[in-house]
Amino acid sequence: MSEIERMNESQAAAELERLAREIARHNRLYHTDDAPEISDADYDALIRRNAEIEAAFPHLKRGDSPSLQVGAEPAGHLSKVPHARPMMSLDNAFSDEEVVEFVARVRRFLSLADDEPVALTAEPKIDGLSCSLRYENRVLVRALTRGDGQTGEDVTANVRTISDIPDRLPDSAPNIFEVRGEVYMAKADFAALNERLRAGADDPDKARQFANPRNAAAGSLRQKDASVTADRPLRFLVHGWGETSALPGDTQTQVIRAIAAMGFPRADSFTRTETTDEALAVYRAIEAARADLPFDIDGVVYKVDRLDWQQRLGFVARAPRWAMAHKFPAERAQTTLNAIDIQVGRTGKLTPVARLEPVTVGGVVVTNATLHNADEIERLGVHPGDRVVLQRAGDVIPQIVENLSRDDERAPWPFPKHCPECGSAAERDAGEVDWRCSGGLICPAQRVERLRHFVSRHALDIEGLGTTNIESFFRDSLIETPADIFRLSEETLVARDRWAETSARNLIAAIEAKRNPPLDRFLFALGIRHVGAITARDLARRWTSWEAFRAMIERMEQKRAELIRATGESDDKFLARTGKEMAAIAETAGVGPEVSLALADFFAEPHNREAVADLLSQITPADVIHETRESEVSGLTVVFTGSLQTMSRDEAKAQAEALGARTAGSVSAKTGLVVAGPGAGLKLNKARDLGIRIIDEAEWARIVAAAQ
Ligand code: ZN
Repeated sequence: MSEIERMNESQAAAELERLAREIARHNRLYHTDDAPEISDADYDALIRRNAEIEAAFPHLKRGDSPSLQVGAEPAGHLSKVPHARPMMSLDNAFSDEEVVEFVARVRRFLSLADDEPVALTAEPKIDGLSCSLRYENRVLVRALTRGDGQTGEDVTANVRTISDIPDRLPDSAPNIFEVRGEVYMAKADFAALNERLRAGADDPDKARQFANPRNAAAGSLRQKDASVTADRPLRFLVHGWGETSALPGDTQTQVIRAIAAMGFPRADSFTRTETTDEALAVYRAIEAARADLPFDIDGVVYKVDRLDWQQRLGFVARAPRWAMAHKFPAERAQTTLNAIDIQVGRTGKLTPVARLEPVTVGGVVVTNATLHNADEIERLGVHPGDRVVLQRAGDVIPQIVENLSRDDERAPWPFPKHCPECGSAAERDAGEVDWRCSGGLICPAQRVERLRHFVSRHALDIEGLGTTNIESFFRDSLIETPADIFRLSEETLVARDRWAETSARNLIAAIEAKRNPPLDRFLFALGIRHVGAITARDLARRWTSWEAFRAMIERMEQKRAELIRATGESDDKFLARTGKEMAAIAETAGVGPEVSLALADFFAEPHNREAVADLLSQITPADVIHETRESEVSGLTVVFTGSLQTMSRDEAKAQAEALGARTAGSVSAKTGLVVAGPGAGLKLNKARDLGIRIIDEAEWARIVAAAQ
């Protein structure tokens, strides 16, 4: 059994929580601060571990799951602009088998015959910064970074200084054309830049140095002052496109060649392959040439060549179904574990962090690694002073994979018995892997984490109220609870050191703008255990208003009171067994016993009720207005039965969802439409008995086409 198969639910949930936070932190370090602490290979290892645990425990998938997100939020100083089409990220493969499985998945989704060739393109995956260049009437009008995939940073002025990027396209180019590719710095240029920075510094030993070419490229492109960018040796390679008024080709290969003909550089090793074996041969050739390439790469990207197939395959969560990045293996290094520190999270979770003797792994200097929990420390048998093997895969947090000083005679490193922040006793519930601070609201670390969560991007998203301000306002007792944020005034801020009138006014305006947060953001912001952004959205969609949601919570309370009266039991263990009853009252798809229990428990706490009431004296959550998409089947529950000839079941379901319909596996009185193919049996009969509308595949295709 694998380590993941051995996990129980609470271990898996805890690990997903840890991964979400860890990955978010690394995203921030990588995308916003340009200061990653771990290698790409290690980052990928975290993303992958998250995906594997989610696959084994699909119901535990978090609303803030890294698998639903791309990159990180954009940095503050550049203006943010939405992408005309989202910039997706790619799923990763680490073995040949996964690539074979990727192609098999494509075949199944498209219902292709076994002998139908699936041509792929293969090209090196450059380690740079993705950019989207928008041309209107053949003139470059805007350049955006990837940002979070939905919204990028405006780097138009900076991009104009890159000589690989033309300002104008030839007359043959479409009117609207977004060219996408990677801005990067060549290895030799990177070394020369660092040398120049060192030579130009007053004290060469303290000169600013970039850790690797990717950070140098990101730091150079995302400058406020484009003349700094102009001074940096940036280059560009095309790998795709966004919005277009016309496409110069029917395949990936044709369009990329057409873009190259317009004057954009493309990778020399870009290849169209007929078979999976050919694609894997290209991977090996590129891997062998890796050290000699002028730029850093971390793998090979495959894309389905036919664009009509790409269209049908579409996207799932954050990634296209028609592309995959085949990553090179993780890199390892040895170093010394100097110390083990404990970090305190929002829910009081105590997470051990390894402080390491700095070591370079795959081009990045690593100083920290996660140790996950006390069990992991015991499993590795680590103590400060030990030599350890560090592994870094992708832009993920490095993991300690081996302890070279392991000595089973030693007692395990003693996990602290007290919270390092407030001194309260650390406690661990039976079956849980994590130790938690028992200080609750008296623990300043937990309170600050909750405030930070409250204003974070998926919660109230209050601009300008970052970690530094939260911590300093909290330290000075300006804000102690979320409601206090809305009691801040310009006068209070201006009275503080280093606060100019403009910044005070801007912050107060940003806070004022959030007095009517959407219900889902409000629910997420409360920081209820297990209620991530997606769960909050599901709850908000089901209950649509705060009043209706609160009435549902009251029904939970009444039910609990009834159960307590009926059984005479009322302790925590008894309450923990009421999950099923609570879930029945929550009536929300995707909200199971665990989340429902967390909801009931949260609102049963008097101090939480007080905090929420106080908050509601300041702000009013906005009701959810359901948007319906124009199609004949919007809002209906559709059942597909029998065999489909032109598409797979998955594709049909994806189409239905895109049209605002729900899909179900069985026919009932709630079914609105049945799409029946040859061989349909019992379900078809039942639909006839119930008088439900029945159509064939051709009619379904007509409905789909009509909605486009
Ligand atoms: Zn504490």
